[in-house]
Amino acid sequence: MKPKKSIHRLLLDLRKHVAFHDSLGIAHYPESEELRRFFDQALPALPASPLPVDRDSGGRQTSSPAASGPPAQARTLASIRNELGDCTRCALHATRSRILFGSGNPRADLVIVGEWPNSADDGEGLLFSGQEGELLTKMLAAIKIDLNDVYLASIVKCKASEVSPPQAEQVRACVPFLWSQLEVIAPKVICAMGPLAAQTILKTNKPLIRLRGKFHTFNAIPVMPTFHPSYLLKNPEMKQAVWIDLQLIQQKLRS
Ligand code: SF4
Repeated sequence: MKPKKSIHRLLLDLRKHVAFHDSLGIAHYPESEELRRFFDQALPALPASPLPVDRDSGGRQTSSPAASGPPAQARTLASIRNELGDCTRCALHATRSRILFGSGNPRADLVIVGEWPNSADDGEGLLFSGQEGELLTKMLAAIKIDLNDVYLASIVKCKASEVSPPQAEQVRACVPFLWSQLEVIAPKVICAMGPLAAQTILKTNKPLIRLRGKFHTFNAIPVMPTFHPSYLLKNPEMKQAVWIDLQLIQQKLRS
């Protein structure tokens, strides 16, 4: 085997291990001479350790994760959460009870991106809570996917409402963290639920009705836009369209 290939394989294996540790809540690796020696020997061509060794236990970055911080492949979801900190980057922080960073399987094949946490989510501490969550669970079950196997995220991470949805500057402040999460998880498919999710991920102003029903791409990852469960609860006649979108997702995941 050529040396380059074996290093690539090693990095892929390491990434899987780190993601697994991340899912167990291990966010820091103790610095040691052995660990340093191992990487010095194994990865002579790389300028920095590929492991997300968090050396600063107290300091949090305040700038955009897209503009600074370790390379994306060296991050974990835990380190991105750490970068986000007790965020006050936009005005939505003032009315939230908590930041809803995202949850679920950090190695998910499918990431579902909603728009913003609503009041119920904020109270429960969970995205897609209540009736929306029940409907989403049924929708996924219809394509034989367990909710626990997916990762749930949103465009902004603090509570907003239909009456007062997130403003463009609030989306701009928050969405770099979603980009980092998607880069770390590297799912096979992203499902963007709701117009804000679809338009933000696909960087378009086209209406959702014209985007759904076919795959688009985000950083080479297939993206299926579809209606949000909150919309379906008020417009059940649109479930048929979502069923078509879900079946396309199922086919893509199996391909
Ligand atoms: Fe920070 Fe995002 Fe919450 Fe705004 S919505 S305060 S950017 S976490």
